[in-house]
This record gives sequence, C-alpha cells and structure tokens, in this order.
Amino acid sequence: MRKWVYTFGGGVAEGSRTEIDQLGGKGANLAEMAALGLPVPPGLTIVSDACGLYYKNEKTLCDDLKVQVLQGISGIEAATGRAFGDTSHPLLLSVRSGSRTSMPGMMDTVLNLGLNDHTVEALGHHSGDARFAWDSYRRFIQMYGDVVMGLDHEVFEEILEDEKARLGHELDTEMSAVEWQHVVKLYKDMLEQELGEPFPQDPHVQLWGAIGAVFSSWMNPRAKTYRLLHNIPEAWGTSVTVQTMVFGNLGSTSATGVAFTRNPSTGARELYGEFLVNAQGEDVVAGIRTPQSITEAARIDSGSDKPSLEKLMPEAFAEFQAICDRLESHYRDMQDLEFTIERGKLWMLQARAGKRTTKAAMKVAVDMVSEGLISEQEAVLRIEPSSLDQLLHPTIDPRVERHVIGSGLPASPGAASGAIVFTAEEAVEAENEGRKVILVRVETSPEDIHGMHAAQGILTTRGGMTSHAAVVARGMGIPCVSGAGTMRVDLRNEKLIGLGVTLTKGDIVTIDGSSGQVLKGEVPMLQPELSGDFAQLMVWADAARRMTVRTNADTPGDARAARSFGAEGIGLCRTEHMFFEGERIHVMREMILAEDEAGRRAALDKLLPMQRSDFTELFTIMHGLPVTIRMLDPPLHEFLPKSDEEIEEVANAMGLEPGFMRRRIDALHEFNPMLGHRGCRLAISYPEIAEMQARAIFEAAVAAARETGAPVVPEIMVPLVGLRSELDYVKAVIDRVATEVMGEAKLEISYLVGTMIELPRAAIRAHIIAEAAEFFSFGTNDLTQTTFGMSRDDAARFIPTYQRKGIIIQDPFVSLDFDGVGELIRIAAERGRRTRPDMKLGICGEHGGDPTSIHFCEDVGLDYVSCSPFRVPIARLSAAQAAIKARA
Ligand code: ADP
Ligand code: MG
Ligand code: MG
Repeated sequence: MRKWVYTFGGGVAEGSRTEIDQLGGKGANLAEMAALGLPVPPGLTIVSDACGLYYKNEKTLCDDLKVQVLQGISGIEAATGRAFGDTSHPLLLSVRSGSRTSMPGMMDTVLNLGLNDHTVEALGHHSGDARFAWDSYRRFIQMYGDVVMGLDHEVFEEILEDEKARLGHELDTEMSAVEWQHVVKLYKDMLEQELGEPFPQDPHVQLWGAIGAVFSSWMNPRAKTYRLLHNIPEAWGTSVTVQTMVFGNLGSTSATGVAFTRNPSTGARELYGEFLVNAQGEDVVAGIRTPQSITEAARIDSGSDKPSLEKLMPEAFAEFQAICDRLESHYRDMQDLEFTIERGKLWMLQARAGKRTTKAAMKVAVDMVSEGLISEQEAVLRIEPSSLDQLLHPTIDPRVERHVIGSGLPASPGAASGAIVFTAEEAVEAENEGRKVILVRVETSPEDIHGMHAAQGILTTRGGMTSHAAVVARGMGIPCVSGAGTMRVDLRNEKLIGLGVTLTKGDIVTIDGSSGQVLKGEVPMLQPELSGDFAQLMVWADAARRMTVRTNADTPGDARAARSFGAEGIGLCRTEHMFFEGERIHVMREMILAEDEAGRRAALDKLLPMQRSDFTELFTIMHGLPVTIRMLDPPLHEFLPKSDEEIEEVANAMGLEPGFMRRRIDALHEFNPMLGHRGCRLAISYPEIAEMQARAIFEAAVAAARETGAPVVPEIMVPLVGLRSELDYVKAVIDRVATEVMGEAKLEISYLVGTMIELPRAAIRAHIIAEAAEFFSFGTNDLTQTTFGMSRDDAARFIPTYQRKGIIIQDPFVSLDFDGVGELIRIAAERGRRTRPDMKLGICGEHGGDPTSIHFCEDVGLDYVSCSPFRVPIARLSAAQAAIKARA
C-alpha cells in the first residue's frame, strides 16, 4: 500500500523539508519544526499525489487514504489526550492546504473542525469558557459553509452584522456566549434553508468534506490564475495538512499573529510582525480589528498606544524570539512565521521563506554572509535575477515638483517620458525614427506587443495589476501605469483627457510605473546606480561567473548606461539606427533612391563622416573593450516614407517628382521583407554600402586609438549569412578597405570579421562558415523566426492562443526554445569550434538578457551574452548563477 500520510508532532516527524514536493511547503516545514522540537500542534499531512488521484477518482477519497488518515488521527488522539468527536474531551482539527511553492491565500482552510451541537458543550465545559466554545463553533460553521458547502461567506457576515447591530455591539469580542449561541442557530437555520440539508453533525463527514474541499480549492479560479502568472504546473497538486487546533481566541491571555524574522521591505535585522489578542486564524489579515506590533520598538515607531506582544506577554515573546533565531540559523534564510498563543503557551503554525522586496533580498543576502550564515556564492544564488529589474530603471527626481494629471496602478516599475501615441503602429514608427513615445491605450491586447516593445512606457485607462498591459510590460521591463481610471482616451480625436487637461497626440507625458502617477511634460530623472548591497552582490557575482556580459548598444547613451552597469563590451551595434536621426535620413533616402552606383556613392560620401563620428564616440566610450558592429541589415524600403502624404512631403523636400518616388518605392516592395533583400544580400548587391561602413569603422578605430591610447579591436559582423561564399564576398570588401585605411593612417589595427548565425543553414554549415568567420554571434531573434518559420511581429496574434491551448508553454521569442533553436545553437557551436577551436561565441538576441536562456548559454559554453543596457546586471547575476550551478 502506498504511503499517503506523514505524521508530525511531539518532537518527531515522518517527513522533512526534503520531501517538499509531496508534503507541500506548509506540511514539510511543520514536519521540520516538529522534528527540531519546536512547539508544533501534532498533525498529519496527506501527500500532493493524492490530489491528482482525487481528481482522477471523480473527486472522491480512496479507502487506503482514509484508513491512513484515521490511523494518523489515532496517533494525534494519543498525543493530545483528546478524541475526535468525543463528547467530553473533543479533539478539534484544522484542515489546511499546502503546495510545493507558496501560493499565499489562494486555497482554502477549515478551522475548528469536529464541532457539533454536542462537542461544543464539551469544549465549553472543558475549557471553562462557553463564550470561546460558541465563538469557535460559529467560526467553524461559517468556514465550512463557505469552503465545503459553497455558500457565499457574505451571507454569514450579513447575519452577524445584523445581530451585532441589534445587540449594539461594535466588535466581535463584545459578543457573549449566549449571543454567539444564537448566531450559531441563525447560521444553521439559514444553511438548511439555502441548501435543503442540515449542517453535518458527524465529525467524520466533516473531515472528509473538508479534505475534499481543500483538494478542490487547487482548481479554484484564484489558484488557477496564480499558477498561470507564476508558471506553476497544475499537475503538482496540493497536499492537505490535518492538525490539532490551538486556540488564540481563548480570552485575554491568548493571541494569534504573523511575523517576519527580518523586515521584508528593508531587509533590516529586526523582528517584524503583528498580532491580535483573543483572535483566531485570519482575523489578523482580515482588517476588522487593527493588529498590534510584536516588538516594543515597532510599536513606538508606529506611534500606537496598544501594547506590543513584548510588553503584553513577555514570556511567550521571549520564546518566540528565540525560535526565530533558531529557525533562521536552521533554514539560513529569513522566515515568515505564523503563531498562536493559547493561554500563554506559544504554538508555531507555519514557517516559510519570507517574501521580500528586491532591496530587502539584497540586504538580507549580504548581511547573512557577514553573519556567517551563508557563503558569497549562496548569496548570489539568493537573488532572483529578473527581480533586479525593479532597481534598474530611471526614477523621477524626488526634488522636482510633480504636475500630476492622472493616476492608475503602479503596474511595472520605472519612469519614462515620451510623446503620446495611440496605436502600436505609431509606436513602432517612432522607434524606427529614434523618437521616444508613451503608448496610450484603453487596454492592450497581444496585437499591441510590437508597439509595447517600441514604446518607452505604457499607459492604459482600464485593467488591473494583472491586465495584459501590466503583465507584458513587467516581462519586458518597460514602465507601465495601468487602469488610470481618472483619465480618458478619445481614440477618434486622438486625445487623452486627464485632470484639467486635454492632451493631443504628440504631447509629452511622463509616467511613473512605481507610483502609478501620470505627469505632464518631461520630468528630470535620476539614473539608477549600482551601489551598496547591490554593488557588493555584483562583485561576488562577477567573481563566480565564466561568461562575459556585453551590451546591445546603438547610441553613445546606450553605451554609457551599459558601461555604468558593468557591460564588458558591445555585442551588437545596429548601424541602421544611426541612419534615422535628423539629417541622416534624407541622405540615406538619397542613397536608396539613386539610380546608379555613382549616385549612391555620392550619398554614401556624405554618410561616411556621420558614421565615422558615431563609431569614434562608441569606441572612445568603450575604451579598448570589444565592439561588435553589424553591417546594414534591414531592407531598404524601411527607410522610405509610406503614406501618400509622407511620400509627397519627402519628394518635395528632396526636389523629386512624387510619381518617381512612388515608382521607386514600388520597385523596392517585397512580399516578405523578413526573408527578402536584407542582411548580407544588401552588401552583395551594393558593395559600396559595405565599403563605406567598413571605412567608417576603421577610420574611427584609428581616431579612437590615437585619442584614448587604448587599442580598439572592432569586430565586424555580417548579418544573415547562409552560405560561406556570401561571407567570403563581403569579407573581401572589408579586408580591402582595412588594408587601405591602415596604409593611409600608417597604423596597424587588429580586427575580426565574423557572422551572425541566424539561419538554420548557417548553423548546420557552421564548420564551413567558420573557415571564413572569426567569430559567431547567435542572433536568436531571427534564428527563432527562421527556425519556426514564424515572424515575430505576426506571432503575437496566435502565440497566446497556442499557450492557452497548451500547444506551446512559453513564447519562444521571450524564452529560448532549447529543443529546436537551442539544438541549432549547439550544433553551430560545436561545428564552428571544430574548425576554429578558439573562436569566440556569443549571443545577441533578446534572449541574451533572459535568465533561463543565459543558463542555456552557459551550458553550451558560449563566451559571452549581450543584452540591452538595463539588463546587463540581470545578465551578470544570471551568468554567475549558471556558472555556480554548473560547477555544483
Ligand atoms: P494559508 O495558506 O491561507 O495561510 P493556513 O493553512 O496557514 O492558510 O491557515 C490560515 C490560518 O489559520 C493560519 O494563519 C492560522 O492562524 C490558522 N490555523 C491554521 N491551522 C491552525 C491550527 N492548527 N490551530 C490554530 N490556528 C490554525
Ligand atoms: Mg498560512
Ligand atoms: Mg537578424
């Protein structure tokens, strides 16, 4: 017979923390605390596999399991000297949920189980407190009626409120025994009337009902949503803990509370928590009465005149404090604890690792290293890399006055300014032109993803913290204010109406995703800094990591920000972004519209000094660190106007016939630009473009070397190579220009020519391409597109459907597809190194900043990852964690 039930209590336990998968967090930690000899009410835990079985058996409990539960209860009876259902010394139980990872408040609990019309009398008699007994009974009916029998808890609250009003009571604690007894009668009558059956009196019926209900609560809508948001598999199921009740509602020497062993928002080493006298269960969090501080220091801080636990029950407090220390050194982490004091005696009801802000997590980790509790590497492993995002965004300078025009929810941290636009398309257009925008929508949908990517920030007037906009923005690390109900979007007239102002498309706003405020105009910001605990952790992370971390940077601003975050070079500089700025776009258009090579060269001659100065600046900022520059990649029509009005305008400005312009645009039209005339194909059609870019790079390298004294090693990257002969052709142009420039400058410059691996053919032929390529950089955005045959911008329409239907779990554009795209990377890495063992391998797609993808890169043995500037610290930490785990 399979073992379904694990018991704990009285200094021993059958299970331990290592069996958390089956016992759930709560069950495992209760067992662990019991085994440590801490005061834990005895109980048993039903393993989470039983949850799956419960559903398979059409929501029934199998006989084996029931037998084992009853055996466990016999043990509890022996330990407590009470008996379940007994009418002189009744044993009362709590029935609690517990999943592998904490899902706070998502599932159900039933307290005071075992009470009925007879045992309630016995409880009153035995405790000498009839009021307490009837209070417990009414609590039980209320919880059981809600959780097991499916009545809305509000119907109970209504009855109670009416009674309190009738009796002139304000607080539950003012109710007498007789008054509670009457409430019990009202509850039972209502219940029978609503459901057509009486409240179950048989404690065993109650028990099986409650266990079934806790299993069922695994599938309630709250729990389902929580799992979706936190990537928790449904198959895990919940365990069920059945435990002896202890009573915090047994008069003024009893209490119940929750506490953290350290401050969860600052991380300071101080006990932090709240409690209520003469209360039970969720009264502390329910907010009906104001809880009191646990420590005297916190009470003084909060200015409360209600005594602290430290003052009120000094002995229980002292014991609790000692237990906190004991648990911290046992678990070597900050704990979140639940406790109850029954007539002065302390009982521990729950322990788990405490949730904390990122700032607190860093302080706790660094402090615990100096306290000797954990090692530096453990400290590095303690920080969730993606949580750093909270600290890596610009914030509004606190010294400036805020002109608030609206507010909503602080959905994704950081502040951003930009011109308002109302469609995703406009946001994308703006990004291409190097303009900063805030995308304003009533609410967003998957079709808006590309626009959300392109915007500096997102503002919606509808939707909560888990709305599409909020979830996606947090995922992308873009500031977002959602559900700004005080503002209105008038889409037809392209207006945003806020407090006392009406803004039009193009007006500048600032959103503060950390406070939820929307401000008028552009507001001075403070750039995030790595200092204090954060800096310390980064030092430890850097010591542990093998891969280097570079940045994707197209502008000097990006490069500077990335350097301050510790980037060790540029892994991808997209030159096309340099062509959109100001005057340049005109010259670029001249080049594209030229009818022959001579015309193109004339325009390129004008672009050369602009590119050269860009590169000189980048090289100077990077001061000798490697800089990878990609040759022009996008199809040329992306630089040309689209709408009729724009065409007319641009043609007039350039002194061209609009008709001529339109014909050229038509001629450049492609059916599928993603797979069209782009990448190295451009350099092969128009080698003069590659020539100009190469010249700009080498001349800039000469200039920067002379200026800084630090020799720059440019790495020139040829995009979208599928054939070795493509690379040979372009490389020949680059090498020729290099020789020319070095000759002119009389200065030797080392440089590398490599390629992006972003086509399956390139990955498979990597050993051949490596004969010409001196490095590979995996362009995983395109490699994902070309491997799946899905265009990223169109995939947003069906990927969510795929996810909903369980066809794929994760969006491959967000988290690298290890099995397919990843396999191609493995093949290319291995074949490339076969030809050129010392060849440098890196990744420069969006995945370069994604923690799980970074683990994969460590696995494959890449030399570096490259990501956007604000993700550099996340990548440093992820790379460190990956290296530590790989060595373990
Ligand atoms: P959740 O997972 O929602 O926190 P719990 O199982 O921790 O649910 O139960 C909620 C509350 O019920 C606890 O915080 C505690 O106050 C109370 N409780 C649970 N079990 C017992 C017990 N055996 N004796 C007294 N109170 C209990
Ligand atoms: Mg709890
Ligand atoms: Mg690409």
